[in-house]
Amino acid sequence: MIFTPSTTTETEPNLAWQHSFADLGESFSVPMQATPLSAPYWVGQSLALGEELKLQPDWQHADDWLQALSGNAQLPGSKLLSSVYSGHQFGVWAGQLGDGRAILLGEANGQEWQLKGAGLTPFSRMGDGRAVLRSSIREFLCSEAMHGLGIATTRALCVTGSDVPVRRETIETAAVVTRVAPSFVRFGHFEHFCHHDQHDDLKKLADYVIDRFYPECRDNVLWGGNPYIALLAAVTERTARMVAQWQSVGFCHGVMNTDNMSILGLTIDYGPFQFLDGYNPGHICNHSDHQGRYAFYKQPNVAYWNLYCLGQAMLPLIDEQEQAIAALETFKTEFPKALVNCFAAKLGLPEGVEAPPALAEEILKLLAAGAVDFTIFWRRLSHWVREQHAADDSVRDLFLDRAGFDAWISLFSALHPTDTRADASARMLAANPKFVLRNHLGELAIRAAKQKDFSQVQALLQVLQAPFDEHPQYEAFAGFAPDWASDIEISCSS
Ligand code: AMP
Ligand code: MG
Repeated sequence: MIFTPSTTTETEPNLAWQHSFADLGESFSVPMQATPLSAPYWVGQSLALGEELKLQPDWQHADDWLQALSGNAQLPGSKLLSSVYSGHQFGVWAGQLGDGRAILLGEANGQEWQLKGAGLTPFSRMGDGRAVLRSSIREFLCSEAMHGLGIATTRALCVTGSDVPVRRETIETAAVVTRVAPSFVRFGHFEHFCHHDQHDDLKKLADYVIDRFYPECRDNVLWGGNPYIALLAAVTERTARMVAQWQSVGFCHGVMNTDNMSILGLTIDYGPFQFLDGYNPGHICNHSDHQGRYAFYKQPNVAYWNLYCLGQAMLPLIDEQEQAIAALETFKTEFPKALVNCFAAKLGLPEGVEAPPALAEEILKLLAAGAVDFTIFWRRLSHWVREQHAADDSVRDLFLDRAGFDAWISLFSALHPTDTRADASARMLAANPKFVLRNHLGELAIRAAKQKDFSQVQALLQVLQAPFDEHPQYEAFAGFAPDWASDIEISCSS
């Protein structure tokens, strides 16, 4: 039997569940039950998110929560479902996809909750409905890391694991991530209803998204009062801002298919992602991406391409095609604007002051030429600017092209006269993280977790949730990637 009935837990969560997505009707989702996960254990927990969700203070020790968040018991008032969507994968129409291993519990305390890896659904296709420990730890840590960086993202409350074997390239073990977001609606939901000519459902979906998340689109002036064009423009703007932030911290998503694009402009579906170590704009982090479609430098263009797919899917709601194109065109102004703002902050400029455009471009060229560590460069520069000791070569030593660097640093120094340096440094330390989830850090935590030592997961979580703080006891997490890091292969397999 595929679906074992769940029992109702006696836990005391007192969550007031609401089910607005389920209420959209049967075109959107199917009722589900989670597949129980044998003998689960806690792997990682975000107490910060638990507090935001107003969970009982000791939830992290409670067995009923462990069972409920592993799919072994149903939280009272939750109503489980999996939703259908479609999408373009690697630039090609992939047809129907859907929540193949994610089960939505409903909304509580302002967020939708999903169990990812909780078993087969009608949308599992060839998959087994499970997620493995390795990829679940990566999703958990990166969700919280992105939030710590101030980048819009789905969040993750916890990972639970089990010794149940799961077959991938090798035999691994199963895990479930509890993730939360105001909504998990993707571009692919819109594409689904457009593709199937279900225009009433398409409108219902668009109205749902507007009323709940973009109410300002309802009575807009800018787009001739058309709420759907306004929605397209608003999603374009949020997506542009999100991708600009990705580029400014060296985040490579790895699988920007349209089913992995959030209608709220959240970073979603952490799979083969990577933070750059040495700066390489052509870096391809996904070993399944043979054409390099999702190389780091291509992300802005791919976002724009994906937005076009969304626009196409929304056309049945929009009479004026020209207007839809105009809404999408805002990407071309919003993305550069957002990127300039990000780099102005990284360069220590006060808000509203733009850096000379060549300054960011030139340093990126130098960083690429020397494959200089992206995170370490910006962090060292943030400290260096305070004193600007000629004798402090900690930044200069990162570069092979010393003459090129010397020319650049004199232009940079001119931005920050002596009496403003302390302020500039403070701004830069708040914009240039000390800690990012480098592949090797995740890998070490995963190796320990496979041996049932979860302390590394929790330690990493602690620094990644506050990545701009110094955390002197965790200096090792801020160092260069070891040589073996480049051998880590991350693919779509998860
Ligand atoms: P992704 O690119 O990882 O976001 O996944 C693409 C599609 O495949 C989505 O519809 C997922 O739900 C589905 N999928 C991925 N892995 C599995 C799995 N192990 N079992 C069932 N469905 C899966
Ligand atoms: Mg996905």
